[in-house]
Amino acid sequence: MVRYECRRCGRRLGVYHGAWTDPELGLTGLSSVDQAQLLEWDDQGAVVTVKVLCDHCLPLPWDDNLWYN
Ligand SMILES: [Zn+2]
Repeated sequence: MVRYECRRCGRRLGVYHGAWTDPELGLTGLSSVDQAQLLEWDDQGAVVTVKVLCDHCLPLPWDDNLWYN
């Protein structure tokens, strides 16, 4: 199962009831660096959370939260 969640406000955006390796999602095409940044596995590795930005947060720069580090 794949869950889409906003990486900024934590809003749940959607759920895909299939494997994250499904070619249709294009997640396996990401570089390992991007995967490490965008994807989050649960303890069992069964649920993958994809960290994206929702419509509400999109106008903000992608690396917005880096400014606070
Ligand atoms: Zn958001």
